[in-house]
Amino acid sequence: MGTSVNIIEGSQVWVEDQDQAWLDGQVLKITGQNAEIDCSNGKKVTLNLSKIYPKDMEAPAGGVDDMTKLSYLHEPGVLQNLKSRYELNEIYTYTGNILIAINPFQRLPHIYDGHMMQQYKGAPFGELSPHVFAVADVAYSRAMVNEGKSNSILVSGESGAGKTETTKMLMRYLAYLGGRAATEGRTVEQQVLESNPVLEAFGNAKTVRNNNSSRFGKFVEIQFDKHGRISGAAIRTYLLERSRVCQINDPERNYHCFYLLCAAPQEIEKYKLDHPKTFHYLNQSKCFELVGISDAHDYLATRRAMDIVGISAKEQEAIFRVVAAILHLGNIVFTKGKEVDSSVPKDEKAKFHLKTTAELLMCDAVALEDALCKRVMITPEEVIKRSLDPQSAAISRDGLAKTIYSRLFDWLVDKINNSIGQDPTSKCLIGVLDIYGFESFKTNSFEQFCINFTNEKLQQHFNQHVFKMEQEEYTKEQIDWSYIEFVDNQDVLDLIEKKPGGIIALLDEACMFPKSTHETFSNKLYQTFKSHKRFIKPKLSRTDFTIGHYAGEVQYQSDQFLDKNKDYVVAEHQELLGASKCQFVAGLFPPPPEETSKSSKFSSIGSRFKLQLQQLMETLNSTEPHYIRCVKPNNLLKPAIFENVNIMQQLRCGGVLEAIRISCAGYPTRRAFFEFINRFGLLAPEALEGNYDEKVACKRIMDKKGLKGFQIGKTKVFLRAGQMAELDARRSEVL
Ligand code: ADP
Ligand code: MG
Repeated sequence: MGTSVNIIEGSQVWVEDQDQAWLDGQVLKITGQNAEIDCSNGKKVTLNLSKIYPKDMEAPAGGVDDMTKLSYLHEPGVLQNLKSRYELNEIYTYTGNILIAINPFQRLPHIYDGHMMQQYKGAPFGELSPHVFAVADVAYSRAMVNEGKSNSILVSGESGAGKTETTKMLMRYLAYLGGRAATEGRTVEQQVLESNPVLEAFGNAKTVRNNNSSRFGKFVEIQFDKHGRISGAAIRTYLLERSRVCQINDPERNYHCFYLLCAAPQEIEKYKLDHPKTFHYLNQSKCFELVGISDAHDYLATRRAMDIVGISAKEQEAIFRVVAAILHLGNIVFTKGKEVDSSVPKDEKAKFHLKTTAELLMCDAVALEDALCKRVMITPEEVIKRSLDPQSAAISRDGLAKTIYSRLFDWLVDKINNSIGQDPTSKCLIGVLDIYGFESFKTNSFEQFCINFTNEKLQQHFNQHVFKMEQEEYTKEQIDWSYIEFVDNQDVLDLIEKKPGGIIALLDEACMFPKSTHETFSNKLYQTFKSHKRFIKPKLSRTDFTIGHYAGEVQYQSDQFLDKNKDYVVAEHQELLGASKCQFVAGLFPPPPEETSKSSKFSSIGSRFKLQLQQLMETLNSTEPHYIRCVKPNNLLKPAIFENVNIMQQLRCGGVLEAIRISCAGYPTRRAFFEFINRFGLLAPEALEGNYDEKVACKRIMDKKGLKGFQIGKTKVFLRAGQMAELDARRSEVL
């Protein structure tokens, strides 16, 4: 990124460090390509010059509000800048028009209040301190002025980085801009805002990374009428984490709604509830309560929000009845039956939960038991009922719980959309995307695969955009940019989604073939991608595979890929609940569409998700994007702790460093002529004699110092990476 030609003995520099990412220090001695550095923390290190970057001694102590104002645009400069700002509770910083937001993990006073909103309203971008409101304001004013061109705000970052909070602030500000004066009853913007607590109750959970982690992706499209008022909204959700309904790890929790319901005194008797510790789906973890949060209070708040978004009292009753039913369903434990390989409810308690589940779902208890413990096999000759062993029955039960829950969630989203309503005449849209960031854990399964696929897609969109913006700036200044190299991640995307032959296509193939196992699937991958640059077969595993993502390598465990990709509802479950006497429950299980051909019979989660992403990308491509990159400063979820290495990794994953790299490939430092002359005029005083032309003077300064490759635009000097440092070094010799 930088260049080291300008590093001399005595220079102040940044050096790479394993623990701190970057340390500052002073060069003691240079021998060949190596420099000996005395670091400010007392360490003495000897490093190759290529690992050393010059430190800007004139960087303002409080940092700069836009990275592009940094004289030396390199990793340590970026990190130092964010750090000095974070110490002053300045959590927002621009990199050009990307907003970086570092989670404060504390309520900062007044930064989101009404007065603040008023200030940002209509203020030119960049005039006030960086803020989410400023981004929303540009999106709104552009959308209004440039009718017909939609805007989108893409919020990204890892779990706990602050995406959902940021999204809520954006929505609040847009509601403020596009809202009516307070009127009676529910307004569209109120409904839009209140959709958040409803979706959070059913789609968020405590995880180790975030106490209120969204387990789904969300794109909210806010529609405005020609007066700039909110006239409708549409919410699209992506990939709810289904496995959480049945399986949680200590100290995480299941979805909030289960605990809310168990804490509601008025419902406990009605639904035969008890403490969460009595339910199998909740007691796999010992965490039942959240510090500082009252589930009983949140239950009421959720009910109120449901009122506002237009969910009727009757529907609400049915929703929570289904939630309770899932808890009871999870407690139906099986044991071996009389026949070989059969199963029955284990004891009186299991029978009680079976009966209660059937009551709550308003279906027949015997039919429920059959649906859980037996499978109908259709052979050409006859129809046989085959029993399931206890283990298979438990899998069948969990499958049913997951299906009911995900259908309930989809129902909520549909209901909210219908009730807020769409404005088909709206020409002016602002979309806000709150979607899971790049994930790389100890074990990575199908969910991580889909999430990282999403991030590759968004990364490509981002790179193209950043690259285009750079080009536009160069074109405006009429300078040549033709040789700037653009690194694309198309090869990873091909690996994943190419049809035929990509990983998703091969996975679908494996799922359709009854004899496939994860071993045969992995072998197929190894054969097919033997020489693919982005695909690696790990040495010590026979079923894992590794993808070289833009943000780093991730090793995936393939053992659950086939199961998790299959998207079908067991016919017995479908039949059981489709026949429920409760209209709401039956409505969650409408009769499946007639199968027309064999090929349409198979639907997979992976392919459906791919299609959803394609649609999302089409939407985003037709908008003018704005980016907000959320950063989680530490894993303790505590204020005022700034972990360098961790943050660098996130800046890398979020493409911030890539944006900087693209910028560095061109002309990362730009200075207006007068600024440049003020700083470096003393290097060529003869150029400033008499009535000089600014452009000519700038060129003469550069020429005199033997610098090449820079460009003189219409209003600014465009410097190549490292040239600013070079000039500073020359300047300090003169001073
Ligand atoms: P993500 O959606 O990225 O997983 P959240 O938006 O849920 O993360 O944020 C996690 C937590 O961090 C929040 O519950 C809140 O406590 C805190 N937080 C995030 N952003 C802010 C903010 N701007 N101000 C104060 N606290 C915040
Ligand atoms: Mg979230």
